[in-house]
Amino acid sequence: MAAVLTFAFVMTALVMATRRKNAELGQSVAERVKATEQLNASEERFVKAFSSNPMLVTISTIAEGRYVDVNDNFLRKIGRTREEVVGHTAQEIGLWKNPRDRRLTIESLRKYGRFAGFEAELCKKSGESMVCEMWGESISIEGVPCAIGVTNDITERKLVENSLRESEGRNRTFLAFSRDGIWIHNRGRIEYVNDALVSMLGYGSTQDLVGRTIYEFFVPEFREALRARVADVVLTLGRAPLTETAMLRRDGSRLEVETTAAAFLQGDAVQNVSIIRDITGRKKTEERIEKLAFFDQLTGLPNRTLLLDRLKQAMAASARSGHRGALLFIDLDNFKMLNDTLGHDMGDVLLQQVARRLALCVREGDTVSRVGGDEFLVVLTGLSAGAESAAADIDTVTEKILASLNQSYPLGRLPHRSTASIGVTLFSGDGTAIDELMKQADLAMYKAKEAGRNNVCFFDPTLESAVKERAALEDDLRRALQDKQFLLHYQAQVGDGGRCTGAEVLIRWQHPQRGMVSPADFIFLAEATGLIIPLGHWVLETACGQLATWADDPEMAHFSIAVNVSARQFHDRDFVDQVLAVLDQTGADPKKLKLELTESLLVDDVAGVIRKMNALKEQGVGFSLDDFGTGYSSLSSLKRLPLDQLKIDQSFVRDILIDPNDAAIAKMIVALAESMGLAVIAEGVETEEQRKRLASHGCHAYQGYLFSRPLPLEEFDAFVKRL
Ligand code: C2E
Ligand code: MG
Ligand code: MG
Repeated sequence: MAAVLTFAFVMTALVMATRRKNAELGQSVAERVKATEQLNASEERFVKAFSSNPMLVTISTIAEGRYVDVNDNFLRKIGRTREEVVGHTAQEIGLWKNPRDRRLTIESLRKYGRFAGFEAELCKKSGESMVCEMWGESISIEGVPCAIGVTNDITERKLVENSLRESEGRNRTFLAFSRDGIWIHNRGRIEYVNDALVSMLGYGSTQDLVGRTIYEFFVPEFREALRARVADVVLTLGRAPLTETAMLRRDGSRLEVETTAAAFLQGDAVQNVSIIRDITGRKKTEERIEKLAFFDQLTGLPNRTLLLDRLKQAMAASARSGHRGALLFIDLDNFKMLNDTLGHDMGDVLLQQVARRLALCVREGDTVSRVGGDEFLVVLTGLSAGAESAAADIDTVTEKILASLNQSYPLGRLPHRSTASIGVTLFSGDGTAIDELMKQADLAMYKAKEAGRNNVCFFDPTLESAVKERAALEDDLRRALQDKQFLLHYQAQVGDGGRCTGAEVLIRWQHPQRGMVSPADFIFLAEATGLIIPLGHWVLETACGQLATWADDPEMAHFSIAVNVSARQFHDRDFVDQVLAVLDQTGADPKKLKLELTESLLVDDVAGVIRKMNALKEQGVGFSLDDFGTGYSSLSSLKRLPLDQLKIDQSFVRDILIDPNDAAIAKMIVALAESMGLAVIAEGVETEEQRKRLASHGCHAYQGYLFSRPLPLEEFDAFVKRL
């Protein structure tokens, strides 16, 4: 451009100057001809350069802007004819879109004799405007100050530039308003950072970050990997895959993020852009989901699913290391009662406190889990290799657990006490199946309960044989009912002076191989399997049938029969109807029927129990509370029961002569019965001394070997006849 301009300018100046010079000097004709020829040649060249110049060339007076000459390109560009332009002013043809621009060029020409790279908009005849870049020099043509201008139409270039600028602006806006954090860095040095990232990291302004390295904003353990990642992206001009990592906020706290990065070329420099997303919320949700799937909601402890997984890992670890591990099954004693008496909310609070205490009793790496109501499973790991020393390790832990769980619990206003039964089984990576281990721990726990609660019991293989035995017994029990292997024994109940008032019926199982099986050995099983329902029904039916038979015998017509009813049986939905139906069918006098209940019945739904008792009582059926003194019933719930009789448990009777405590309890029960308007009977009376002592305390009804053992019906009849 400058070369073209200079050439045009020089040529014009030359032509003018030569013409002037020729005129002034009055040269010889030959010289003038030669000079003129030369001049013509150069003028021709100039005109050629002028007219064929791809740029728009104009010559105009400075004062008015009147066009002296313009090239064809100029005319073509502005869409006018030579006549419309030459001899007219720029103002007349409305060339300058903004007249101020013309004034600026003229000012520059006057001051400096030139202007360069001036941008202005010129108007075509059509009214369309074009953006131009202009250069100009002032020259004097025949004494008139003129301007020779060279103009370049840059409309298209401007459009491209503008659109580029716009898209860059758009990009910047996108970056600035993105909710994700974004920074652009050059080999780790931050050059740009958006507001989102600034606030995510807890800074005040972008200036706090620009110029620093990206690495210092990541947790140290990620920095090495990050350097490798940046190098990789730079090298390949590629993208880095989505990665979860953690950054450091200004206050040092951790920020969970997900980042992705890409490299791009800007000029010669490789720039990196990273998008950083705050995933704290997502992490929390994920954690919550995990918590729901693997943790118990109430206590926050691992649930059964997670426990099984940990147990599997612990077994594998034990197989590798040779260290033994143990599975502990912990069941709270009498939890159900607490739940029923203090309410489920209090039950929940207790479970939470138990969970906290258990967690404190084990080492890191051990697992405490809650697998159901009041059942906790604990996996201990890294115990001694030998079975005996491992057992000693476990003793230490279980002692700690029992001691901790025995501490009183602040529940509501009153401190509460609770104990637990623990079953333990050892494992050593010998390939025992997981459910086998669970069964073993479960069995051991039941054994601990049987041993009197607040106890620890280790699983041993004999337990297993006991279980097999139990399974066999269960099979036999089912068959026994069909095969009518059961019979009833009658044990006399007597008043003062040895007068028989009736009998308690006690079930016996005449087993084809085992002989006579005691109810103590099978009632619990019948309860556990539900067989107690048909069995209890049979007892009731038989007893009532007997009452009806006795009703026709003047010697026995006044006898009552006491029938033991287990909790499970009593809670059966149809119990009341069944009793009434049996009474109806047999024709027995309801007043002669006495149902013996135990305190275990009161653990559940006391109101429901009372309702049922009342329904039966309305028909004349009586109730006796068996084994009284061994249970946990509160006086307040006792008072609400429509009872007729308390039965002093035989354990107090046995030692009534030697143990002052037992004597005191027996005495107290009599007093209690009296105050509540209830009758009282003592069971397990074996000696006359015991009877006398009971009588001295005010108890005048007895049952026991002193009078008669439980007897088969014919023998009982004979016994009564002998009296
Ligand atoms: P229980 O109702 O407390 O019965 C009293 C137990 O004491 C009976 O044991 C009886 O044989 C025994 N016994 C009676 N007098 C004496 C004595 O002077 N000394 C000693 N040491 N023991 C005496 P049994 O017959 O083995 O019954 C045990 C338990 O089985 C019963 O305790 C009762 O809870 C349950 N049971 C028995 N028959 C039935 C039944 O038909 N249905 C239900 N649900 N349970 C039953
Ligand atoms: Mg009884
Ligand atoms: Mg009893």
